[in-house]
Amino acid sequence: MCSSDLDIPNINSLVVELEHYRRQSELLATLNGLHARLAGAVDLPAMLEAFSVWLTPFIGHELMAYQNPERERTHMICSSHGPERRRVIEIAKDAFGQLDVCADSCCWSKDEFYIHNWHLANFQGSGIILVLKKGKAISKYQEQLLTKGLEIIAEPLQRAQEYEDLYQQASCDALTGLANRRVFDEHITTIMAQAKRHGNPVSLACLDLDKFKQINDTHGHAVGDMVLQKIADVMKSMIRDCDVLARTGGDEFVLILPDTGIKDATILAGRLCQAVDQLDLPAAGSSKLGISIGLVEWQREFTKEQWTQYADAALYQAKAEGRSRVHCWQAKG
Ligand code: GH3
Ligand code: MG
Repeated sequence: MCSSDLDIPNINSLVVELEHYRRQSELLATLNGLHARLAGAVDLPAMLEAFSVWLTPFIGHELMAYQNPERERTHMICSSHGPERRRVIEIAKDAFGQLDVCADSCCWSKDEFYIHNWHLANFQGSGIILVLKKGKAISKYQEQLLTKGLEIIAEPLQRAQEYEDLYQQASCDALTGLANRRVFDEHITTIMAQAKRHGNPVSLACLDLDKFKQINDTHGHAVGDMVLQKIADVMKSMIRDCDVLARTGGDEFVLILPDTGIKDATILAGRLCQAVDQLDLPAAGSSKLGISIGLVEWQREFTKEQWTQYADAALYQAKAEGRSRVHCWQAKG
C-alpha cells in the first residue's frame, strides 16, 4: 500500500485520538506527582504544603489555605514574605470570615489578588480550600487540574484530621482540657535538655487541692468536676504560653516553668494559692478550698525522677505545714 492509499479522515481522527491519549497520560503523570508528594506528608499542614508545592508549576499562587469551621482549624501556606505576607494572610482571614460554609465554590478579587475557594463537599465535616493568586484569575483549564488535585487530597486530608483529633484526645485531659501526664513527660525531658544547653533556670511545681474529697462527699461528683475545671481555667489564665500545666491525677497538677528561677516561681505559686483561695469555694466545714504547692528549681545533676520526687516532697511539706501554701524544696545539709 502506498501513502496515497491512506484514508485522510481516518488519519485525522487517529491523530486527535493520539493527542487525547498523550494529554491523558500527561495528566496522569502530573497527578501521580501529587500522590508521590502526599505520601511523604503525615499531618495536615504538611499535606497542604505538599499540595501547594505540587500546584505551583501549573498555577502560581501566593497563598493556599484550608479551613474546617466545624473543627475550628485553619492552616495557611504562604509563599510571600514581609509586609506582603501579612497582607495576603489578612486577605485570606477576611475571605474565610465572609464565606458561607454551604455556598458553592466561587472566585472574587480584592486589590490585585484573585481569591478562589472550593468546598470539599465529599469530606465528612466539610472543609474549605482557598487559593490566592496575584494579577490573574485561575483559567478554566487550570481549574480542572486543581479540581482533580482536590479529589486526590480530600481523603488524605480527612485522615490527617482524624489523626489530629486522636492525637489531641491522647494529649489532653478530657475534664479540664489541660495537658495530661504523657505530654508532661515529653515536655519535661525536652525542657531539661534545653536548660542544660542554655543554662537557663527552670522550676517545677507539684500542686494538689486541699481536702478536695470532701467537696465530692458533700456536693457530689459533678460539683467536684466543675471545681476542677474552674481551678484549671484560673491557673491556665495566670501562666505564660511557654509554661506547661498538666493534670496528672484526680486533684493533682504539675507545672513546669521554663526560664524561671525559684524566686519568681515562688511569687507565681503564691499568686496561684491566692487565686484559688479567692474563688471562695466551700470545702470542709466552714473552710474554703485551697491548693498546696511544692516547688523546686532544676539543678544540673538532677535526673527527671529526682526532680519530680523533690517537688513531690516539697508538696508533702506544704500539706504538713498546714495546707494552702507554697513550700520550696531545699537540699539537706
Ligand atoms: P488532701 O488535702 O490531703 O489532698 O486531701 P484530699 O481530700 O484532696 O484528698 P486526695 O488529694 O488524696 O484525694 C483526691 C480526691 O479527688 C479523691 C477522689 O475522690 C477525687 N477525684 C479524683 N478524680 C476525680 C475527678 O475526676 N472528679 C472528681 N469530682 N473527683 C475526683
Ligand atoms: Mg488533694
